[in-house]
Amino acid sequence: MAIQTSPPGTFPTARRSRPPAANPPSQAAAPLPPAALPPTALPRERQLAAYRRALRSMPGGTDSNFRAWGEDTIYVDRGLGGRVWDLDGTEFIDLRMGYGPAILGHADQRVDDYVSERMRRGISFSLTSEDEISVAELICEMTFCDMARMTVSGTEATMHAIRIARGFTGRDRIVKFEGQYHGVHDYALISVLPTDVSHLGDRDEPVRLAWGRGIPEAIKETVIPAVYNDLDGLRRIFEREGEHIAAVIIEPILGNAQGILAQPGFLEGVRAMTREFGALLIFDEVKTGFRVAKGGAAELFGITPDLATYAKAMGNGYPAAAFGGRRDVMGMLPKHVSHGGTYAGNRVAAAAATRVLSIMRDTDALGTVARNGLAMQAGIGAVIERRGLPHVFTGVPQMFGIMFTEQLPADYRGWAATDHELYDDVARGMFLRGAMPEPDSREPWFVCEAHAEGDIIDRVITAFEGALDSALEARARG
Ligand code: PMP
Repeated sequence: MAIQTSPPGTFPTARRSRPPAANPPSQAAAPLPPAALPPTALPRERQLAAYRRALRSMPGGTDSNFRAWGEDTIYVDRGLGGRVWDLDGTEFIDLRMGYGPAILGHADQRVDDYVSERMRRGISFSLTSEDEISVAELICEMTFCDMARMTVSGTEATMHAIRIARGFTGRDRIVKFEGQYHGVHDYALISVLPTDVSHLGDRDEPVRLAWGRGIPEAIKETVIPAVYNDLDGLRRIFEREGEHIAAVIIEPILGNAQGILAQPGFLEGVRAMTREFGALLIFDEVKTGFRVAKGGAAELFGITPDLATYAKAMGNGYPAAAFGGRRDVMGMLPKHVSHGGTYAGNRVAAAAATRVLSIMRDTDALGTVARNGLAMQAGIGAVIERRGLPHVFTGVPQMFGIMFTEQLPADYRGWAATDHELYDDVARGMFLRGAMPEPDSREPWFVCEAHAEGDIIDRVITAFEGALDSALEARARG
């Protein structure tokens, strides 16, 4: 088994489903990954009826391209702790956890009780509540940030961080890494997650690949794609156009692409180079924040960026997000850079974040999450080893992926060379055995505190084992 280079005290991790179908061929038209569960294998009657009903009023029958899985689209009834039930009553161990937010578990009473008590005082005033001040204080206490502001989504957080970086530096261009997802605003949708990596162009001269139609050429021109873990390539970009670069935005762990970790020295190199050329460094911690360590990836790797974005784990599923950073940079607000939002800091989100962040700070919730992830990895690793297959865990135990490969990829392009079809088959087989990972190898498994309950971890390992054997048998039969 290959072991990925990991930060101290962690284990080596993975990513996701993708959207649109309506891209011109020159772009990253990614057909929906998952899919095709044998239609009769699980009860689907009510969900199919919901799908047909939804299709009449919602494109794809969902509110997000990432959830539109055709006839296999899942319609959810409820979740509790580490489990989720679909509309037909099938129970699954949830390994998606909403793409990361539900770090404590679904319907966590500690959070829900507090939120429902606070929300009775009214939710949206476009005035500032004490709950919001508490959130900013908690973020500043737990992370490197001197100041922070709330938004409603991770997309907004990265959009605002990018604008502040531009405002602060007086420069326009942003460097982003291939295979990284920073949300759905125009500046983020360049060179994200094409299934055919040849669309990314020459690795020494990557092309700006827009994800889907509707992204203006002029905006594309301001985003410079770079290859993750390639400091020489980044230096070439800075030497060519450094005086125009406002910021480098980076997911410190490729949480949206297999959880590939930075190689030793890479993040340090990016930090040094941004300083050398007068650009800012933005850590997109939407997935890693308050999950991989109390202070996120910045703490885990010991690197201090200038700005960071948070969402997911800070709200345990409530729509809480934030951006924050250095006092002088955040000081561009309120006078020099625009930022607002009717729902920014609304009571529900702020109360949730206050409670969730306090739990993270004051309890060993993250330790439990990490131990759960390690226990899953140990069981799954033993299953794979017994079958003699090369594999590697990518990421960290709190958010990990499984790759069937000898050669650990260093960047998104390398993912294409792994046996991700086998992973996708296994993931689909796990659905049939009562566990729900994302059926796309690029999305990590998200571990929550409540996965420690009962026999959940054993059930995950058993589901994995059955699904792996069935996928291997199907392969052997051709
Ligand atoms: N950044 C990262 C790293 C993400 O993983 C995501 C969502 N998966 C976003 C930004 C966008 O967040 P949201 O979906 O809340 O807009």
